[in-house]
Amino acid sequence: MPDFLTPELLAWRDRATRLAHDHLLALRDDVSLDERNRRRAVAAASRQAGLHGLAQPAEDGTAPSALTLLVVREALAAAGCGGVRGVFGDGPGVLAGVGEPLRGTHLGPLLAGELRAGFAFTEPVDAPRPTWARIEGEELVITGQKSYVTGGADADFLTATVEVEGEGPAMVVVDTDLPGVRMLRRFASFDGSHHAAFAFEEVRVPRTHALGRPGEGRGRALERISEVRRAIAADCTGTAMWVLALLAEHLVTPRRDGRRPGDTERARLRYGDLQVKVYAARSLVYRTARLTDAGENVVNESIAAKLFASEVAGEVVDGAIQLVGGEALVEGHPLEQVMRRLRTLRLAEGESDVLRVNVARGRLDLGQGRL
Ligand SMILES: Cc1cc2nc3c(=O)[nH]c(=O)nc-3n(C[C@H](O)[C@H](O)[C@H](O)COP(=O)(O)OP(=O)(O)OC[C@H]3O[C@@H](n4cnc5c(N)ncnc54)[C@H](O)[C@@H]3O)c2cc1C
Repeated sequence: MPDFLTPELLAWRDRATRLAHDHLLALRDDVSLDERNRRRAVAAASRQAGLHGLAQPAEDGTAPSALTLLVVREALAAAGCGGVRGVFGDGPGVLAGVGEPLRGTHLGPLLAGELRAGFAFTEPVDAPRPTWARIEGEELVITGQKSYVTGGADADFLTATVEVEGEGPAMVVVDTDLPGVRMLRRFASFDGSHHAAFAFEEVRVPRTHALGRPGEGRGRALERISEVRRAIAADCTGTAMWVLALLAEHLVTPRRDGRRPGDTERARLRYGDLQVKVYAARSLVYRTARLTDAGENVVNESIAAKLFASEVAGEVVDGAIQLVGGEALVEGHPLEQVMRRLRTLRLAEGESDVLRVNVARGRLDLGQGRL
């Protein structure tokens, strides 16, 4: 599926593929590196290849092209480097376009790699009240809990969704060393990523730490979440392509008896079905990137892209494991590792059924949405 890519986009794709083959695959598998040093080495290789910083806005604040990011992310994943961290460096996240003082105190150091941020959205189901703040003079006083902040234990600050009394939802920058910020636990999910849960107990932050105008928090959070959803979708289609390639290799490799596993009609039916699904997912994801670059509101399309691509990728790896057999479940087998990583993506940034319900609500209750 060439998807009518321009020569410029094809060059980005080739550059990403070369970076993966020349450096990232070896760095991914280098057991002598700890996570921090691996990330540093990945960033250095990516900088040399001209990919580092690609996800950051230009000097004038222009957002990077969604299609370019898709092509690069998908190519990296299709080369087996989905989930390798540090390629792009930290993006601005919800701080994109923020003014002073946060621009100088947080955004600049974040982009320079001097500070690390966590995105604090999800709350524990038994929280008595969603995280909220009262206004006291020039300060917000925040109380509540966040249950699943990726990279939270190493974060210097969190961008947290907070309901500000009398004003509505806001994204608020909360430094993790402030009095009243307590890390309740740190934990890992089975894909190997690390997270933390936090309590905020009467945490005082300047009002200038709330992003945008009062009530804008939801819009900002949605934009940021949509961007991450599109990134996940690209990772999923690329990874699904990588799995399909690995499966094809298995299907045409003769077994001891000289027959090829792919010579049975059953294997062909399964393989063909997965090919069609990946084609459909890629079509959807590319269309969403083009709509994004055209300046459209793509909240629903980004939901559809993430939801569909993550479910298809899950089916592809599950189907591949079924055809390859028990060997694929042995710890350290590439399919076993990919299975664990892809499985988390049907929950992260929105559980699939919750996303379906959101899309339906747009049309049924709000009369909006083009899906
Ligand atoms: C690897 C990973 C990284 C993550 N990183 C972050 C992060 O950095 N920051 C962050 O804030 N969060 C993060 N999360 C949390 C993630 O966003 C949530 O897990 C996800 O949104 C689902 O929320 P939940 O776990 O509370 O499950 P729920 O939303 O409670 O869903 C659990 C089940 O309940 C169902 N359900 C939910 N609501 C309803 C309803 N109203 N009616 C009927 N059924 C319902 C769902 O369909 C689902 O089956 C991460 C999660 C993972 C797995």
